Amino acid sequence: MPAPQCASCHAARAALRRPRSGQALCGACFCTAFEAEVLHTVLAGRLLPPGAVVAVGASGGKDSTVLAHVLRELAPRLGVSLRLVAVDEGISGYRDAALAAVRRQAARWDLPLTVVAYADLFGGWTMDAVARSTAGSGRSRACCTFCGVLRRRALEEGARLVGATHIVTGHNADDMAETVLMNFLRGDAGRLARGGGLGSRGEGGALPRCRPLQLASQKEVVLYAHFRRLDYFSEECVYAPEAFRGHARHLLKLLEAARPSAALDLVHSAERLALAPAARPPPPGACSRCGALASRALCQACALLDGLQRGRPRLAIGKGGGARDEEGPPPPPPSDPGSAPGPADGECGAACKERCE
Ligand code: SF4
Repeated sequence: MPAPQCASCHAARAALRRPRSGQALCGACFCTAFEAEVLHTVLAGRLLPPGAVVAVGASGGKDSTVLAHVLRELAPRLGVSLRLVAVDEGISGYRDAALAAVRRQAARWDLPLTVVAYADLFGGWTMDAVARSTAGSGRSRACCTFCGVLRRRALEEGARLVGATHIVTGHNADDMAETVLMNFLRGDAGRLARGGGLGSRGEGGALPRCRPLQLASQKEVVLYAHFRRLDYFSEECVYAPEAFRGHARHLLKLLEAARPSAALDLVHSAERLALAPAARPPPPGACSRCGALASRALCQACALLDGLQRGRPRLAIGKGGGARDEEGPPPPPPSDPGSAPGPADGECGAACKERCE
């Protein structure tokens, strides 16, 4: 049976059905609609004001690749300028290839690229070194949680280095739904109280962050990359299969099989369940060592590095609001380690969203 006509241009044959609406579109009309929806998300949420210098967190994976491409298309209409900022976590056999993809993108799109490395920022510590130091401690499975804390700091440092006023990351609706599920599963009331939202306004001197793809489904991000013929990196990070996020992803897939709108419903639920700003805990203070946002004497990154130096890396996860910079019991391991599914499409970026939004 021949493909139906595109429901938008009525000229070309449809190349896909949009996963959520079922609308049949040709590739060109789908890409136009996708870009228009991201533009609407940015404008309606007032995420990026005209004149903003925007640091795009670039991992080389499909989400950040699509985000950078779409924002580059929209930049003249938004009146913003873009900088790519990539983080080198120091993961041998993996990150070098991902950074090569980012460099190709920067050259192809003629965008300035800055790479910040854990080793330079964190006194020589790389993610491989962190993994070695936690091996056999019962916390080796928390690599992504440690990494997420350091990545968040590294991206902030990189953005400041390039004079950015705003940071954007490539989280899509599926990522956000997984985060909501993880917060529930971990009993992380602090994060649930803050809700999802499209980003943070930059409390306590931190740069404002936002997620322009937050309402776009993973499937449509992949379709957009396909129709725009984007070059992205799709190998899996060696530590990704250990990530707790894999369990939330598996659960979300089961939910979506029964209810296709489950991911977006979870995103909207988190926004509706969030406490009003006035009811939330007061804004955190500053880290006594580095000056970054902190709810205790040391921020999460400094507390983690401190623990690594002492051979006792700690990050508790739970009711108080995300990874905490305190001594405490380690997070419980997943109940069935052997069955932990890895990222659905092998892209590190998804697992990298463990704690960096
Ligand atoms: Fe870091 Fe991402 Fe690798 Fe996890 S999957 S260790 S967050 S680079």
